[in-house]
Amino acid sequence: MSEPDSETNLGLPLDLLPIDIQGYRAGNTGVDYVHKFDSGQPGPNVLINALTHGNEVCGAHALSVLFENDIRPSRGSLTLSFANVAAYHAFDPENPMASRFVDEDFNRLWSDDILDGARQSAELTRARQIRGIVAEADYLLDIHSMHLPGPALMLCGMADKGRRLAFAMRVPEHVVADPGHAAGPRMRDYNHFARTDTEQTALLIECGQHWVKESGQTAIHAAFHFLDALGLIDQAAAAPFLVETPPRQRLIEVVGPITIQTEDFRFIEDYNGLEVIAKAGSVIGHDGAQPIVTPHDDCVLIMPTNRPRPGQTAVRLGRFIA
Ligand SMILES: [Zn+2]
Repeated sequence: MSEPDSETNLGLPLDLLPIDIQGYRAGNTGVDYVHKFDSGQPGPNVLINALTHGNEVCGAHALSVLFENDIRPSRGSLTLSFANVAAYHAFDPENPMASRFVDEDFNRLWSDDILDGARQSAELTRARQIRGIVAEADYLLDIHSMHLPGPALMLCGMADKGRRLAFAMRVPEHVVADPGHAAGPRMRDYNHFARTDTEQTALLIECGQHWVKESGQTAIHAAFHFLDALGLIDQAAAAPFLVETPPRQRLIEVVGPITIQTEDFRFIEDYNGLEVIAKAGSVIGHDGAQPIVTPHDDCVLIMPTNRPRPGQTAVRLGRFIA
């Protein structure tokens, strides 16, 4: 159980801060901070989840907009959940990264083996509470943000169903088909979401840098585009919150995540992500004595970490698909 880092926000101002979510504590599902709205009509169970990481506050902003505007499903059901509330409530502007989690990364726990295991942590307790609502969801949007500034990324997993839904949403511009992390499965990888022979589909959006204002707006747009793509809400309800001119979306296929092996991992430059390295075999970093080289021409760097630790993902390498 590693300690979260103590560090400042890369010299960026903290413009997007936590909001008071105490009013959303008492839900109607028997689980605090989880609300389910049932249309009474046939249709999918749709889940929008915020605060998988406590410091990624944009999702809380998006859910509050859904609540304040009384957004209700016209078919199926809509569940809104705030996941790692304990971490969120520990937010300290002097050390904003520290509230990513309490004991461990909530988004590396999502297999039945781990959830049924004997291990205990603040995050496992919470994951065990909301596991049922994740399991019954037909569609999941999990809202995150990133440490480094950059455009939003939709992580859609490896199955075609994820790509289809990401493109049906029409935002954001960059859709990343990725297999996840060696350190453990994410909520979006849980059971039926990761399988190719089931309909249940999960998306994870990285809305931009954690504490820039635009990330909040991106999260709101994503939530409404998600509900719109699924036909879950009326056009009139969605319209004010949709992007006026959606971008031409682009798919990046991840060839492989680079998992850090040693205490001495470093990139050769300060990468922000979405850099394209032209030549195969280019050295982008070193892990101890081992050079990290690009496996193919026109290699895209996705979400490089600036907090390298053994066992964690350093960067995903991918390629744009025409
Ligand atoms: Zn996150």
